[in-house]
Amino acid sequence: MADKTIFKRILDREIPVDLIYEDDRCVAFRDVNPQAPVHLLVIPRQEIPSLLEVQPQDEPLLGHLLYICHHLAAEFGLAEGFRVVINAGPNGGQTVNHLHLHVLGQRAMDWPPG
Ligand code: 5GP
Repeated sequence: MADKTIFKRILDREIPVDLIYEDDRCVAFRDVNPQAPVHLLVIPRQEIPSLLEVQPQDEPLLGHLLYICHHLAAEFGLAEGFRVVINAGPNGGQTVNHLHLHVLGQRAMDWPPG
């Protein structure tokens, strides 16, 4: 069996993090290497490696994760706007193989991303 990802270890409470949100389907916490004044990660409890590998039955979960990004943006006062990023696979720049949504805010974003 493949080694646990760092996010699975966080979910299993093997690595302590301050959760800023949790429910039966996902948790959220601050990114350890923030790229904006607010940089949160929303991850499903279910071990889905990436957006490349979701299944049709994952569709409600994906909607839920996005809704939680909205909820957190409101909670963190990101009324001027924010960005949600999902890096998928090597070309997408994904480094942790457990699906996660980045919520970035409190600064103006550039486009296109690098
Ligand atoms: P990716 O590049 O896969 O889209 O994003 C992975 C993110 O996880 C990176 O922004 C990285 O800073 C963050 N990260 C990696 N390890 C840890 C950790 O142990 N704790 C937290 N809070 N974030 C982490």
